[in-house]
Amino acid sequence: MEKKDLSRRQLIGSLGAGVVAAAISPLNVYAADEKKEMKVKRSAQPLQDPTKKYPKPPFKSQSQPWPGLASKMNPPPDHGEKSYVGSGRLAGRKALITGGDSGMGRACAIAYAREGADVAINYLPAEESDAKEVIALIKAEGRTAVAIPGDLRSEAFCKQLVDTAVQALGGLDILVNNAARQQTRASIMDVSTEDFDATMKTNIYAPFWTIKAALPHLKPGSCIIGTSSVQATDPSAELYDYAQTKAATTSYVRSLAKQLAPKGIRVNGIAPGPIWTPLQVSGGATQEKLKKFGEDSPMGRPGQPAELASIYVQLAASDASYATGQIYGSAGGGGLP
Ligand code: NAD
Ligand code: MG
Repeated sequence: MEKKDLSRRQLIGSLGAGVVAAAISPLNVYAADEKKEMKVKRSAQPLQDPTKKYPKPPFKSQSQPWPGLASKMNPPPDHGEKSYVGSGRLAGRKALITGGDSGMGRACAIAYAREGADVAINYLPAEESDAKEVIALIKAEGRTAVAIPGDLRSEAFCKQLVDTAVQALGGLDILVNNAARQQTRASIMDVSTEDFDATMKTNIYAPFWTIKAALPHLKPGSCIIGTSSVQATDPSAELYDYAQTKAATTSYVRSLAKQLAPKGIRVNGIAPGPIWTPLQVSGGATQEKLKKFGEDSPMGRPGQPAELASIYVQLAASDASYATGQIYGSAGGGGLP
């Protein structure tokens, strides 16, 4: 520091002050309090063994009526409530996240707010209590938080959702299509047409409708993120309908990325492996699978939503400007993105 100060004084002596500021600004861009804050964040953290970081199976048998609540899960999922530390990577951005009440959507909402973004979340009315917790966490960061309950299986609602978010946030830069329906069925014979239709509407039509509604508002530099799954490339026997919607998600990400790159809009996806969320305990998995959830992954445990938050941030951040049409995986060593 002393050396830098000295060279600054020497420089000032020989050059105009404006030129000096420009010449040394990379070393001096941070105010003292910002420097202090960064020092805290950058202080050495102990190494953590990822295999021991979170609960491992066996898990207690548990079942909730769809769509389930994070608050009623045992053990409770970690969405980064107490751990995610932001560093201004999304300062001033405006984001809409579907399924933002729980699971990956909640982890994304918390992280985005802590990175400086204003955030609107969509969820089903039955999830109001989970959503309230997320809204409080976003507000605690001093960010605008917008709660927009409603059913994505309706095209009219998808349009209204985007319009409401744009109005409440004063624009839109990041659209995260994360909501999904997953119901386990041993046989294709057990999948009713209503079932199949509900899964297609939630997982394929809703992103289609929300993207179409959002596109006129997205300026160059904006981005769209879709939550896909390892099911896109390695479908389970009992997830016949769900798995094909995730293949569709991966496909729309790659197609739209090509279509929108010339407009300066990036489109990327995330492919989680087994993650401990309400989707799994409200019909997404059998009780047998739940008790051993994540056991098959090389990590020997399921992931927690918090472990994916930084990926949603990375894909939205402007320094990832050359990444589009990509699917980022997070599956404890198994699966393919
Ligand atoms: P989650 O239950 O926490 O989130 C899913 C959300 O979808 C719900 O909170 C609900 O708000 C929303 N939703 C469902 N149907 C809806 C509808 N008709 N209208 C409005 N909202 C609706 O579970 P999650 O696991 O965090 O799911 C998030 C994403 O992660 C999904 O796309 C899912 O496919 C994907 N995913 C999950 C896993 C996993 O193991 N949990 C693995 C791979 C991919
Ligand atoms: Mg939920």
